[in-house]
Amino acid sequence: MVNVGVLGATGMVGQRFIQLLENHPDFEVTALAASSRSAGKRYEDATTWYMDNEMPESVKDIEVIETNPEAMDNDVDIVFSSLPADFALTVEKEFAKDYVVASNASAHRMKKNIPLVIPEVNPECLDMIDAQQKENDWDGFIVTNPNCSTIALALTLKPIVDNFNVNSVRVSTMQAVSGAGYNGVPSMAIVDNLVPYIGGEEEKMESESLYLLGSYDGNDVVNADFKLSASCHRVPVIDGHTEAVFIELDDGFDIADVADKMANFKGLPQELNLYSAPENPVIVKNENDRPQPRMDRNAGNGMAVTVGRLREDKVFDNSFKYVLVGHNTIRGAAGASILNAELINDKIL
Ligand code: NAP
Repeated sequence: MVNVGVLGATGMVGQRFIQLLENHPDFEVTALAASSRSAGKRYEDATTWYMDNEMPESVKDIEVIETNPEAMDNDVDIVFSSLPADFALTVEKEFAKDYVVASNASAHRMKKNIPLVIPEVNPECLDMIDAQQKENDWDGFIVTNPNCSTIALALTLKPIVDNFNVNSVRVSTMQAVSGAGYNGVPSMAIVDNLVPYIGGEEEKMESESLYLLGSYDGNDVVNADFKLSASCHRVPVIDGHTEAVFIELDDGFDIADVADKMANFKGLPQELNLYSAPENPVIVKNENDRPQPRMDRNAGNGMAVTVGRLREDKVFDNSFKYVLVGHNTIRGAAGASILNAELINDKIL
């Protein structure tokens, strides 16, 4: 068993980590860290539990510690980070001196030699880890996963980019409120409403997607060479991001072929049979009224992205469009970090 810690353990994503790690065959949660508001309390007392199922018995009595490596037990090998980005910027580096840090925060994404990884999309970027350790003289390292809306989009784009010549991608999102954390969007701002702005989100989708779908030449990542434009919106859904995606190719295509390539897409996690890997990372549905967040966000235990309304665009040449739903705190956050850690545990530790 690998002992793991969760940083930001009392928050929305931290709780999802604890839920997903319950009964994990390889990882056991032994350390929980949060802010000084929570440190020193039993986890059950420090946390307002938001998940649908009960808080696991195994974590209730763990004493929440301050978020610094000195407070952490040396028996821990991997720390999952769901810290606010500004705090993660300094503290994740401190942890990386001795621990593997699998981070959800945006602080270190796309930095030189710090892999930004979706295991089905660009696992080769884990090769950066050696250089990261040498450069910093660290025994541990940092690996990051993308922003929640980017992960769902990139998983569906991967089989398209691998099989067709993409010219441009446009995406319009309808993002769940849990993506902003428990205190993120006041109910008075979102009930009976929609907010057409999520700070920094469009920039993250536009830059992270091209990195993920680019190539790693052993030194740097060369971005994918098509254009990608995003418009991001918050909607009154609790969990599950929906995205309308518009693709233009260089050439003609057969829409049944696109559907087939998406539905049959598999990556390294499926090959290695990793515990959290869904059998099919992309599920293609034919019903006209799917996907929907309430019905489809838990597909593949929340680790699969559901695509529907895949159709040829009758207006623009060489174009097609579809709608996707992905679970933002599972595949888009905690589940993404856990799958990264499972791949690292299989290949590196
Ligand atoms: P959240 O619900 O607000 O939780 C924040 C957590 O960080 C809490 O455990 C909090 O502890 C702790 N914290 C806050 N300030 C701290 C400090 N100064 N020192 C130590 N701990 C501190 O936020 P969240 O939605 O879980 O998001 C966490 C991170 O994941 C963010 O970087 C976010 O961008 C990223 N992320 C979120 C999603 C999503 O769908 N929600 C998806 C992808 C990535 P206390 O309870 O003690 O205050």
